Order: sequence, then structure tokens, then C-alpha cells
Amino acid sequence: MDEFSLIEYFFSKSQLSENISLGVGDDCALIDIPTGYQLATSVDTLLEGVHFPVDGPAEGVGSRALCVALSDLAAMGAEPVAFTLAISLPELNEDWLEAFSRGLYSVANEYMCPLVGGDTTRGPLAITIQVLGKVRCGQALRRSGAMVGDAVCVSGSLGDGAASLNLIVHSKPPRLDSSIRAYLYDRYYRPAPQFELASILAGAASAAIDISDGFLADLGHVCKMSGVGAKVDLELLPYTQQLDRISCAGRIRDWMLCGGDDYQLCFSVPQKKLANLLQIASQIGVRVSCVGEIVKGAGVQLLDTGTELNMEDLTDNKGYNHFG
Ligand code: ADP
Ligand code: MG
Repeated sequence: MDEFSLIEYFFSKSQLSENISLGVGDDCALIDIPTGYQLATSVDTLLEGVHFPVDGPAEGVGSRALCVALSDLAAMGAEPVAFTLAISLPELNEDWLEAFSRGLYSVANEYMCPLVGGDTTRGPLAITIQVLGKVRCGQALRRSGAMVGDAVCVSGSLGDGAASLNLIVHSKPPRLDSSIRAYLYDRYYRPAPQFELASILAGAASAAIDISDGFLADLGHVCKMSGVGAKVDLELLPYTQQLDRISCAGRIRDWMLCGGDDYQLCFSVPQKKLANLLQIASQIGVRVSCVGEIVKGAGVQLLDTGTELNMEDLTDNKGYNHFG
């Protein structure tokens, strides 16, 4: 097998949708964007040993790579159209590629996002995925629209990403309950991009971001770009009972605030639109928690039972930063 048969065998299986005039195989792919929509695009690189563990399971690496990239489209309020894959491989290992592409395609099929092109090279294992999405003109969920008085909300629960990284990926504790292990494994290797929720945020949320670096850091990005501050009530941060069963309150708190890798949405909503949004979210079965408020000023303030928490008490209050 060589480079070209590899591409044909592992990366040319996508079912093309009506918007794709041409997929893998030519010099470029050709994609139609319907009138009234803007193209939303984002690119993410995953490096072995940085974004996933060395010798991580190939199927999980494939599913995680695409889920993480798709999460940016959801955070922008865009629907998936297609993606491209640039992959650097140390060797041509067919078993690895088979499992990797299985993981990749299972996510591509679930979110109807076909693979339409890419690049294949030899080198240290690195995966770059560019996602292309469409969003109705003027409806994109930017980071910059939060206004003083808006509610600060988060979807799902926080802390699972950091818990899974710590427990499954790094320390592999032998006595971790198998159902919790399976739950965390899935949360790490297949974090669900929040498209359902995103579809009801258009016209309601004033700003949105997906939580990749950590809740504090990512809400901080929204504040900075919106020229506002935020006040967050620690007691209102949502976490699952699985975390409760495996760790103590202090550690859970750090995972929720600083951990990252959750790929939930953090968004702001004007008070007058909040009740309606919460009702629709509950109708479609998406958990949304209001955890604070947008305030004048800058940065995120944390309240612990009414008193302000000292950020220095947190293990890492800045979120992930490759050059930090
Ligand atoms: P070029 O030399 O024009 O860059 P390539 O030989 O790199 O073309 O790629 C041939 C075709 O295969 C192109 O359509 C390209 O998009 C596609 N391709 C290459 N690598 C991948 C990959 N990892 N996944 C999907 N498509 C790929
Ligand atoms: Mg090429």
C-alpha cells in the first residue's frame, strides 16, 4: 500500500451530500453554499502527546479529532457541511488506520459531515481537521455580544473532560468502577458537539463559546471580546453524579473551572429571552444551567456561598495555553 491507495482505501468513503459537487480525488473539492448562508470555517490540530495520549486508541483518536473540530461549528451556531483532514503518520500501519478511520467516519456519519479532501504526509503523528459549516447570514453566535445584565449559562455538565484526562488517560486507577470508566472514556474520546442546543440559540444568545480550555478561561474570552465582566456562582455549576462518586468537592471544583476538554457551550442570554430559551431547551432534552450574570468591568469573579473566591486558590486559573 502506498500514499494513494491509502487515501483511496481509508479516506474516500464519505457519502456526499447534495451540497458537495466534488469530494476526494481531484485538486480541490467543490462545495455549494446555499443563498442566504455564510461559510463558517475553523481548523484544529491534534498532536500525539499533547492533545491525546501517546499510543491512544486509534478509533478514539479519530472520533475525538472530529468531535473537537465540530464543536467550534456548534459554538458558532453553524451546521456541518464538510471537513478536510491533513494527517501526518510515522508509518503506514493498516490496523491503526482502519481503527482511526472507523472512529472518524462514525462521527462524520452521525453529524452528516462528509470528508471531502485532505493531505497525507509522513512524520510524527499529527491530525489537522478543517471543518466547514453554514450559518444563516447574521445569525452566527459570536463571542463579542454579551451585554451587562445578561444571564451566563452552560450546557450539560462541567468537569468530565478533566476528570477523564486525569483518571483514564494519565493514571489508569485499577479500582475505578467500570461503568464510570466507560462513561469517562466516552466523554474524552467522543465529546458531543452541541448542535441541538446551538440550533435554538440563534436569536436568543448574545454570545457563545465552546469550553475547550476551561470554563473560567473560555468565559474570560467572551468577557474580553464583549468588553464586560462576569460574576459566577460556584454552587450553580453543573456536574454529574459520576464525578461525585470518584472525587472530592475541591478537586471537582478545579476540574469544572479550569479543566477544559468539556466541549459544552457557555453562552450569555438577555434576561427577557431566558425563560423561553430554558423552556425550549428542556423540551428538546438539553440541560442548561444559569450560573451567573454579565456585569460591568472585566474578568470573571467567582462567588462561593456569597463571598468572593480568591483565584489564587485554584490549581490553574488561566486555562490551557501552549506558549503560557
Ligand atoms: P495534491 O498533490 O494535489 O495536493 P494529493 O495527492 O495530496 O493531491 O491528494 C490527492 C487527493 O486526495 C486530493 O483530492 C486530496 O484532497 C485527497 N486527500 C489526500 N489526503 C487525504 C486525506 N488524509 N483525507 C482525505 N482526502 C485526502
Ligand atoms: Mg497534497
